[in-house]
Amino acid sequence: VILTEGGAQFITPLSVGALADGKAHTDLFSLDDDAAMEHIRLAREADLILVAPATANLLARMAHGMANDLATTTLLAADAPVVIAPAMNPFMWSHPATQSNVELLKKRGVHLIAPEDGAMACEEAGTGRLAETQTILANINQILKNKKTNDHALKNKKVLVTAGPTHEPIDQVRYIGNRSSGKQGYAIAATLARHGASVQLISGPVALSAPSGVDITSVETAREMLDASLNALPCDIAICTAAVADWSPQSPHQQKLKKGSSPPNLVLRENPDILASISTHPQHRPRLVIGFAAETHDIVNYACDKRQRKGCDWILANDVSRNIFGSDENEIYFITETGINSWQRMSKQAVASQLVDSIINELSYA
Ligand code: C5P
Repeated sequence: VILTEGGAQFITPLSVGALADGKAHTDLFSLDDDAAMEHIRLAREADLILVAPATANLLARMAHGMANDLATTTLLAADAPVVIAPAMNPFMWSHPATQSNVELLKKRGVHLIAPEDGAMACEEAGTGRLAETQTILANINQILKNKKTNDHALKNKKVLVTAGPTHEPIDQVRYIGNRSSGKQGYAIAATLARHGASVQLISGPVALSAPSGVDITSVETAREMLDASLNALPCDIAICTAAVADWSPQSPHQQKLKKGSSPPNLVLRENPDILASISTHPQHRPRLVIGFAAETHDIVNYACDKRQRKGCDWILANDVSRNIFGSDENEIYFITETGINSWQRMSKQAVASQLVDSIINELSYA
């Protein structure tokens, strides 16, 4: 149990510790704790973190990523599911600031156990009472049950993910590239690994560190990405999120081109299509092949056409005219043989979770 400074005004660390059958942690910089990095240890050891009662203040600090006490620091370091059970005065609960903080947290995957109606300690009535203990326990049980199933849902499944841009050399120092950050592909690879999959991530040059539990191969050019991808076959699922350059200079110069009187003429050749090569592989076509389509207009039409032309099963299309590149959010049209679903704007992490849930669902009906 972590007791906040506000919480300690109502109940002492000693009573909380006794009820919790252990110590109540209160201090970010405690000298008594064995581990210097107490917040990291607490975050890693938890299967789930429940914030109850979640005050308006704590929700605001969580929403803005603050880390100014042990509770918020641990929450920021957490990779376990986080559940909030708010309790506050009805006006504080319905205030647009609190509501928008809660919406933001929900978008990031935080589970909400909504407050209930009734009389409040402040003698006002309305929505703001902490949910009943039985309701909180039932919610936690369900979340833990789902988590347990999900942790192993992709066990023994081999998944190939391509991510990031490619760099196509013009000479020894210059290249043709694009603005892809690799964030969406890395989030997908990390989520797959958390569900027990064996993930081979083939990555173009990005400024991201490898997600834990993922086998990564770094490449520069489209041709290198194709070779590495074909080497990773056979696999069960292939997800091509990479923004592969469509063309590369035909004969890159071995040394740096000197600035002359006129700019050089670049002769470009078409790059191989990795997604199409995997989708149409004669021996090792994966059971599920998924592509992404970055479009600036007429998104759904182009993406539907792309799905058929490249022979993949699903396409996730997004509108890159809306500041998607490099951003932490994405807006998706999820296109399959049977239909088109529009996913509301959400974090790339949430897109990864929704995609992985769809994959688990698809495989369970296969
Ligand atoms: O044709 P376009 O680049 O829009 O197609 C996007 C999809 O195709 C993405 O899934 C991307 O990873 C994949 N692709 C590929 N190899 C290419 C071009 C695109 O795998 N040369």
